[in-house]
Amino acid sequence: MKTETKELVLVTGGSGYIAINIILKLLKQGYRVRTTLRTMSRQDEVKSMLSAGGIVSFDNLEFIQADLMNDDNWHEAAVGVTYVIHVASPTPATRPDDGDEMVKMAVDGTLRVMKAAKEAKVKRVVMTSASGAVLAGHKHHPDIFTEDDWTNLDGKIDAYQRSKTMAEQAAWAFAKENKMELSTILPVAVMGPILGKDFSHSNQIIRTILMGKMPFLMKMGFDSVDVRDVAELHLLAMTKQVAAGERFLATTGENITYKEEAKFLRQNFGDEANNVSTREMPDFLVKLLAVFMKDLRMPATFLGQNTACSNLKAKNMLGWQPRPAREGILATARSMIELNLL
Ligand code: NAP
Repeated sequence: MKTETKELVLVTGGSGYIAINIILKLLKQGYRVRTTLRTMSRQDEVKSMLSAGGIVSFDNLEFIQADLMNDDNWHEAAVGVTYVIHVASPTPATRPDDGDEMVKMAVDGTLRVMKAAKEAKVKRVVMTSASGAVLAGHKHHPDIFTEDDWTNLDGKIDAYQRSKTMAEQAAWAFAKENKMELSTILPVAVMGPILGKDFSHSNQIIRTILMGKMPFLMKMGFDSVDVRDVAELHLLAMTKQVAAGERFLATTGENITYKEEAKFLRQNFGDEANNVSTREMPDFLVKLLAVFMKDLRMPATFLGQNTACSNLKAKNMLGWQPRPAREGILATARSMIELNLL
């Protein structure tokens, strides 16, 4: 049976882990998709990841070159589009070393996308923000963070959380000023199956643990969510009337420590998890090591903090039903083993 072709959706940053999964869902549901790439030579790679996810025809997919750092092609990218899903942003995996440049890239890029969406009179923009725009820099932590919380920009926070917070705030201000419909999705650590070599900085945690590159674990818990559910939430926010003007945290609602995660990997992966350590290191040592080890700097800003987030809003308002955290974590580990990424 042929699926009826639906509206054209612009997805920014089609080479990214989350964006690929959003495009996959849109194509499977019959939408036409235009996606931006900053490097057009990545088209084949994107197509091969989509094929791995089950897409057999690319008739409903088009690519356009656009970089968050300049104006070229953003207007053209949005022409004829009904919805924009703005996912592209510098992440800990792709970030420039200079934190101020990272913030500028995220904020200016978001404003370029919003301006193009306004000119194209799109119905709604859905933006991928992050739980980092909610839970960072606070002196006092609630038992559970909700969408009412905003990261404290005056606190001690990493450039990534600053970039996500300021970009989301810029999007809301632009939407308000121009009377546009906006909805933001705020994922916690995104896990789940990997379709190719482009996986996220959060998946990298599982890889590091599996490879035994984390001989001592940080004493810290974090929420996670499966990328398939994150993609689903973007589509719900795009299509449900009630989602306009709202932020939605994307989390399973389970806050799992590194130690619990390591134990879980050991239980499920036998020999493949032989290198997994379950030993923890004290906070002061993490802080000391973070001076020399770049990868530890961002997580170190969360030591001693509660990072638990609520998913009640997305569940109650949009009927979203995320799968359990362990399923996403297992899927990440399984695909890393299958794709020989360890
Ligand atoms: P990713 O795989 O690193 O994807 C980032 C995307 O942004 C890539 O397509 C990248 O393009 C693009 N990008 C970066 N800088 C750009 C620029 N200057 N111009 C144009 N495109 C640019 O990361 P991801 O995990 O899918 O993240 C996608 C979004 O989700 C981001 O907004 C991120 O902040 C948010 N998020 C992710 C997580 C997570 O755990 N993964 C959690 C919360 C929120 P290239 O391929 O050319 O580098």
